[in-house]
Amino acid sequence: MTNRAYTNPRSVGREYDQWTTDGILEHFWGEHIHHGYYPRGTTVDVDFKQAKVDMVERLLAWGKVGSPHNILDVGCGIGGSSRHLCRQYRASVTGVTLSPGQKARAEELSHEQNLSEHVQVRIADALSLPFPDDHFDLIWSCESAEHMPDKPSFIREMTRVLKPGGCLLIATWCHRDNPLSHWEHRLLKRIYDEWALPYFVPLSTYDYLARKQGLTAVQTEDWSLQAAPTWKHQIREGLGSLSFLLRQPRSVLARSLKDCLAVSLMILGYRTGTIRYGLMRATKP
Ligand code: SAH
Repeated sequence: MTNRAYTNPRSVGREYDQWTTDGILEHFWGEHIHHGYYPRGTTVDVDFKQAKVDMVERLLAWGKVGSPHNILDVGCGIGGSSRHLCRQYRASVTGVTLSPGQKARAEELSHEQNLSEHVQVRIADALSLPFPDDHFDLIWSCESAEHMPDKPSFIREMTRVLKPGGCLLIATWCHRDNPLSHWEHRLLKRIYDEWALPYFVPLSTYDYLARKQGLTAVQTEDWSLQAAPTWKHQIREGLGSLSFLLRQPRSVLARSLKDCLAVSLMILGYRTGTIRYGLMRATKP
């Protein structure tokens, strides 16, 4: 079931522009717009923003990415991972996003951190990238695959721009294996609407698509347990910052309340096992 409202790249870009310009998302999440890593599946003793950095580090260790020099960060947000990858590997990183607001903020942050020379951000659609074949030795896609309105074309395009010997590493929102109940379909539709998403697939679909493209050393893993506490943690952080939220303009406050509903849907999605957090890594032969 596809959510037609978000098959158009422009509408996704607009949503991320809004999430970026009001600054609320960055206030809470920092530079990383993705789940945190909670080793024991609980928020106890975990810092909200640090958990997101931990997620990047855990993913890199899990993905066995080698020592990449030329990295593509697909769906780079405001470049949190791009800068992390740049520092960690002394690599040149290109991020792509659909949101001009994100690109502008990413460039500001890279400038502040003296990384402008090595981290570049472009507005481009991941389904049709402005890069030659066999170009990058690591493709990093952290929570962008779920936005792709055509998953087979996405994996095909990633394979095209990946260098032989290079690694594709994806962390993405999935739904559990089919068949889903009517109630689960309804829950997912609500989640798609809240987060500008066209549709999820089960993790096994990414595995299948990667093999179909001829990628090798394909591995997948489910990190729902480690990622799900993000949402409960977000509620706690929000409650702890009520006075900050109440000082925001009305339109921003209204949007934050709406996001609160979206967060509750995520908690429900994980609790019922409908939503899964999936990882896939693969190598181009
Ligand atoms: N990876 C980032 C941001 C995740 S948010 C981080 O971890 O912080 C999802 C990102 O995917 C946004 O930047 C959005 O613009 C991007 N995106 C969604 N669909 C895309 C597409 N078709 N092509 C390129 N980027 C896309």
